Amino acid sequence: MSVTQQQILDSLAKVTTPRGVPLTKAGVLSEIAVTDGKVYFSINVDAAEARAWESVRSEAEAAVRGTPGVASALVALTAERKPGSAPAQRPGVAPVSAHRPAGAPGAGLPKQAEIPGVGAIIAVASGKGGVGKSTTALNLALGLQALGLKVGLLDADIYGPSVPRLTGINEKPQLDDSRRMIPIARFGLSIMSIGFLVDEEAPMIWRGPMVMSAITQMLRDVDWGKLDVLVVDMPPGTGDAQLTLAQTVPLKGAVIVSTPQDLALIDARRGLAMFTKVNVPVIGIIENMSYFLCPQCGTRSDIFGHGGARHEAERLGVPFLGEIPLHMEIRATSDAGRPVVVSEPNGPHATIYRSIAAKVRDRLQALSTI
Ligand code: ADP
Repeated sequence: MSVTQQQILDSLAKVTTPRGVPLTKAGVLSEIAVTDGKVYFSINVDAAEARAWESVRSEAEAAVRGTPGVASALVALTAERKPGSAPAQRPGVAPVSAHRPAGAPGAGLPKQAEIPGVGAIIAVASGKGGVGKSTTALNLALGLQALGLKVGLLDADIYGPSVPRLTGINEKPQLDDSRRMIPIARFGLSIMSIGFLVDEEAPMIWRGPMVMSAITQMLRDVDWGKLDVLVVDMPPGTGDAQLTLAQTVPLKGAVIVSTPQDLALIDARRGLAMFTKVNVPVIGIIENMSYFLCPQCGTRSDIFGHGGARHEAERLGVPFLGEIPLHMEIRATSDAGRPVVVSEPNGPHATIYRSIAAKVRDRLQALSTI
């Protein structure tokens, strides 16, 4: 029996709020999305009230989870600053926050506690979309695994979660005894994506604070088990939401994916600046779609003026991790849910991803994180 929106509202009517009225009467609820027993909605309040509403968020989530027919629930607390009111956070950082650790200082966004059992969390980021960030994140995760590490992948690209497509996963995460989501196991990786919870076709509008709240839950309300490395596929770009994420996820390092075009490199520089600003070490830059390898004759063409990312990395004093060609095989395997590192493990592309993974591992070891 699948749960209805009305049943969810009935459960939420029992949650009280700091305004002295039930949650359903407080005028703070977004649309409630219910798909296959998965429930998603947000509570929207003014930033000045956000703290007082954190407990409401968790009570609402518990109430929804306790409703018969609910498989999973994701409730985001979004805090928006009223025009003209004092900034709730330091400039340039989106206001927020659900899940602020108890006792954390009120000013700014505190770095969150590490995830128990997870060795190193690394971000795969890009200055803009479409550069192959997700494809690279997945194959990098598989490359790290091929080196003998236990690896997880968190698809935090809430604007366009592509990991369900890239991995061919279309099942929903189950809940463990403590009602935490169990990541989907595929290709030996533990995988979690917002795309497992929401309908891929449903248009979703995310504001910065909502992004962080959802991602914090995907990090902390998930039973990751023991991992050496958790690879986080970040939302593309360098806006407030990304900056907030970079600042609040306990990242050990970041990998930047860029194509050779100048424009992408300018964006990549912004990515670098973003991580530097929040004191996350940049593990290195990867040049994706670096050169074209003709599938018929094997001839190489540097159609985008290859090498830009390597020079840029040298100029900026950031490690250059490697070049991935633009190749039909990478696109076809990615889009068919059979990433090239597992579908063609002895091929040239898998070798490249593994060698990049080895550099990432070495850097993490140098940083003493794994
Ligand atoms: P992003 O996460 O940056 O938006 P994706 O990883 O979703 O990008 O890749 C965008 C498209 O480009 C996908 O169709 C993917 O298969 C393809 N792609 C990514 N990297 C390569 C590559 N090296 N060679 C060929 N196609 C690629």
